[in-house]
Amino acid sequence: MTVTSSAAFLPVLERIAEEIGRTPGRGRPADYIPALAARDPRSFGMAVAEPDGTVYGVGEWRRPFSTQSITKVFTLALDLFREGDALWEHVGREPSGNPFNSLVQLEYENGIPRNPFINAGALVVTDRLQTRTGDAAGELLAFLRAESGNPDLDFDLEVAASETAHGDRNAALAHFMASYRNIDNPVPVLLDQYFRQCSVAASCADLALATTVLARHGVRADGTRLLTRSQAKQVNAVMLTCGTYDAAGEFAYRVGLPGKSGVGGGIIAVVPGRCALCVWSPGLDERGNSVAGVAALDRFTTLTGLSVF
Ligand code: GLN
Repeated sequence: MTVTSSAAFLPVLERIAEEIGRTPGRGRPADYIPALAARDPRSFGMAVAEPDGTVYGVGEWRRPFSTQSITKVFTLALDLFREGDALWEHVGREPSGNPFNSLVQLEYENGIPRNPFINAGALVVTDRLQTRTGDAAGELLAFLRAESGNPDLDFDLEVAASETAHGDRNAALAHFMASYRNIDNPVPVLLDQYFRQCSVAASCADLALATTVLARHGVRADGTRLLTRSQAKQVNAVMLTCGTYDAAGEFAYRVGLPGKSGVGGGIIAVVPGRCALCVWSPGLDERGNSVAGVAALDRFTTLTGLSVF
């Protein structure tokens, strides 16, 4: 990782950090597991990575946090690389309009989740990646280490254990889909993979760098291709429409970029062809999106004029 004089957006980031620092009302950290509830909602970091691997940031941009649902983007990309469009027979591409951990639509839609970014859909993607690799979470970790250039990136086993201890809702989703034969692996195996996937600890710098694969239209940091240009466009489109759950419309309205949030308070976003962003602040709104994170991305696209629209 390098901070270079070509840090084109650094003055914008500094202005945003200063504005966010003055803003009261930061939401509340996720409290569904004890390991996340202790986070300070005033923490804030933001990083921008450019397609050539230049990365820079403000605030706590090098401090690891719990990535949670952000990793759903990378498991989707890794599974598309492995099996291509056959994945879409098992998971849809429509916004759900429901909370990220909702069960309600599954019965009407024969165990096919609405999209890969709600928990039900992510469980299906992880299940399919597990069948193809024998170690879905390990495949994800190796990918994130390679793309971020950070070999120390790792699972947070305390978070994974906390997820397991409070995992009834995810277990219910997995069992319910298994009853429709939309899960291949034994549910306990799948849940172990999924909870470790959610537990990866990474910084804004790490995640902005890893997300540049989507800014480079599917090309990895080493120049090899993970996704076709068309698949990269499709992943970006699903992020835009489904990446922030039942707030995706509001996020598109305010930010105007493909983005994906996690209940650890992180959000990644993509400006195709130009850069990737990651912002972190643990205080969430009632839909599970970081309050300061959405505000910061809103300011970024407003101040720079960058958006996909
Ligand atoms: N580990 C969380 C869960 O499965 C991830 C949810 C999220 O980040 N939205 O409930």
